Order: sequence, then structure tokens, then C-alpha cells
Amino acid sequence: MAKLELRNINKIYENGFHAVKDVDLDIEDKEFMILVGPSGCGKTTTLRMIAGLEEISSGDMKIGDHLVNDVAPKDRNIAMVFQNYALYPHMSVYDNMAFGLKLSKIPKTEIHERIDKAAKILDIDQLLTRKPKQLSGGQRQRVALGRAIVRKPEVFLMDEPLSNLDAKLRIQMRAELIRLHNELRTTFVYVTHDQTEAMTMGTRICVMNNGIIQQVSDPKTIYNKP
Ligand code: ADP
Ligand code: ADP
Repeated sequence: MAKLELRNINKIYENGFHAVKDVDLDIEDKEFMILVGPSGCGKTTTLRMIAGLEEISSGDMKIGDHLVNDVAPKDRNIAMVFQNYALYPHMSVYDNMAFGLKLSKIPKTEIHERIDKAAKILDIDQLLTRKPKQLSGGQRQRVALGRAIVRKPEVFLMDEPLSNLDAKLRIQMRAELIRLHNELRTTFVYVTHDQTEAMTMGTRICVMNNGIIQQVSDPKTIYNKP
């Protein structure tokens, strides 16, 4: 069970800027939740607080039944994929995907099985010996997703993961992320400022503005489509 509960979450940065204000949000298990809103409205800050990469100033954050306010990122069973996917350039695709698992002392055979499975799902099984520079943008993005999947996270956080891709690839990857969500059956929280992405991918959309939540609803209601 990986339901997320955000209760009265605030983020005040060290310079005094109040970036997230009294955010109350329930994200259901296996939901595909989109955080949408203009640049600077607090989407990334919210995502980073869920991941534990940013301390919350006040409020309560729960993952499943656990209060995680003081739980380190590595103990949260969460994976995060960014727009600049930061693969290790000197490592093969296989080693990029294996790296975190080796650090966690997962047995080699298990690592092998997980990579094999993820690579098939993402259609990168022919690319495992390549280096990142020998891949296209879309392939690199898939490797970044693969590296997250093999960790078997309960929650997948994505911060504008498609924004560096060209329009055609972006459309293709949207469809792939929807398929991935269906296959993995995990909770997705996806940040974008792209209305089309929000409309086509999310089961629900959370609209933020100036650090507050304006509305949480299904795509049709938000965008007024019949
Ligand atoms: P979004 O993801 O919606 O574009 P962010 O969450 O990145 O917005 O940022 C929200 C606001 O907080 C912005 O005004 C940003 O400038 C500010 N901000 C982000 N990081 C910091 C920081 N470390 N210190 C001070 N202000 C910050
Ligand atoms: P280690 O690096 O700990 O010796 P292994 O013995 O499992 O790990 O594999 C040796 C290297 O062979 C790996 O680091 C990886 O670069 C490569 N490798 C292993 N399995 C595959 C595979 N299925 N596809 C591509 N490369 C692989």
C-alpha cells in the first residue's frame, strides 16, 4: 500500500520565501496524480518533500501508514526521475541500472533478473552494453526510468521527465508512461506545466498556484471537457 497523505504541508525556504502553503492532499494507492501549474508555483518543492530531498517546515507527510517527516530519502521506497536524467556517462546501460542495487547489496542473480525484466518492459534489452552517449534522447529517458523501476519503488515521482524531448518523442513517451503505470501498478506523481500532458496522462490533476492547491479533480472537470 503506497497511499500518500500530505497534511498542512508548508515549505519556507531559508531566505524566508514561503514556497508551499498549507498543502493538503491525498494521493491514492496506484493513482497517476499530476501536479500542474505555472513555473514557480511550488510543484518541484512539493515533489522533493515527498521524496525527502527537502525538509518540510511544518505539517505531516505519510507514506502508507508511516509518518515520514524525519525518514531519510533512501528509507522511503520512492524513486524519482528528473528531466536531466543524469546517467553515469562512463557506465554501460546495464551498469547504470545495476549501480544502486549493488550498493544495496542485492544478490547478482536478483539484479540480473530485475534488469532483464525492466529492460523488456521498456524495450531497451538490445541496448544494455551501450554507453549513454551512444543512445538517443528517448532511449536515455527509458534507461533513467529503468534505473528507477529496478528498485521496485512503491511510489514513482517524476519531474517534467519529457521536457527535454522533441514533440514527436514526447507524444510517444506519454503513451509509454501510461502503459508503464498500468504494468507496474504503483503510485505515480508527475509534475508538469504542460496541459496536454496533464490531460492525457493523469487519473487526477492537482492544480497549484502561488504555493497553494487551487483544485484537485479529474482531467475532464479541470479542463471543462464534455
Ligand atoms: P515549480 O516546480 O512549480 O516551478 P518550485 O517548487 O521549483 O516551483 O519553486 C517554488 C518557488 O520557490 C519559486 O518561487 C522558487 O524560486 C522558490 N525556490 C525554490 N528553491 C528555493 C530555494 N532553495 N531557496 C529559496 N527559494 C526557492
Ligand atoms: P560485476 O560487475 O559485479 O562483476 P557481473 O559479473 O554480473 O557483475 O557482470 C559483469 C559485467 O558484465 C557487468 O558489470 C555488466 O557490465 C556486464 N553484464 C552483465 N550482464 C549483462 C547483460 N545481460 N547485458 C549486458 N551487460 C551485462
